Amino acid sequence: MQRIRATSAVFGPGHADSLRRGRLPLCQAGAVSALDPADLVPADLAHLEHAVALARAARDRGDHPFGAIIVTADGRVIEGLNDVITGHNPIGHAETNLVRDAGQQLEVAELAGSTLFTSTEPCVMCTGAIYWSGIPRVVFALSEGDLGAMVSDQSGVPTLSLPSREVFARGGRPVEVVGPVAIPEATDVHRGFWDAG
Ligand SMILES: [Zn+2]
Repeated sequence: MQRIRATSAVFGPGHADSLRRGRLPLCQAGAVSALDPADLVPADLAHLEHAVALARAARDRGDHPFGAIIVTADGRVIEGLNDVITGHNPIGHAETNLVRDAGQQLEVAELAGSTLFTSTEPCVMCTGAIYWSGIPRVVFALSEGDLGAMVSDQSGVPTLSLPSREVFARGGRPVEVVGPVAIPEATDVHRGFWDAG
């Protein structure tokens, strides 16, 4: 499996314990600074850029601008796009669609050796889907917080402000989370979309 040379700041050793005790350190939610793309190994960066390109493709076809891919240990790639609008699917987020499709194509052991790359940090629903899939590693570009800041002025476009690390920390299976990664296109793909209301 590809490994990155540097990871973003992660919650300290006591974080999971504090979550289990119910003391949510929400003040840390925005404390994870973005990685420079150069901090990723080239293969990881290429996969993340692939996911961002799929977000653009989703937008171009009339859906919400989100895309994701799963890459297996032997390099097989499965793509997922948001289809909330074209699929008339309120839960048609890229990662949830992708996990469902990948589950039909891959064995459990293959999922357990895969990485999911996504254009924007998974929402709480998608984080749950990833957790239940057994996928052990997630790499994302735009943070949930930064997306929320772009969407927040729009009435009728609510977000669920809950970082994926906090959701994973509640589970009994460790999931490595890498991100956010400062890829300009991951932000640009949202520009003007949510403003159109
Ligand atoms: Zn989602």
